[in-house]
Amino acid sequence: MSAPYRRGYTHTKSKGKESTVVCTYCGRQVPRWKTFVQYRGFRISDPTLRKQIDPRRVSGFSSKMYVCPSCARYRGIVQVGRSRKSRRG
Ligand SMILES: [Zn+2]
Repeated sequence: MSAPYRRGYTHTKSKGKESTVVCTYCGRQVPRWKTFVQYRGFRISDPTLRKQIDPRRVSGFSSKMYVCPSCARYRGIVQVGRSRKSRRG
């Protein structure tokens, strides 16, 4: 997409319904544009074990999870009121 990236809550005006995802924490259905994406993965602390395992395979263990805004705030995934530097994407 080459359009200028605009931040903020915008509904997708495209045809069809907006895609919704289920919040990992509360299980609520939230529109996808509202959610925060987190990656949960295995963290292997054992160095020998880490050597044996292909990092690509390890990444396969990680799961993408969607977090609704309220949960994100509650869990400290997003900080409210801090600098507006957002590292998205
Ligand atoms: Zn939630």
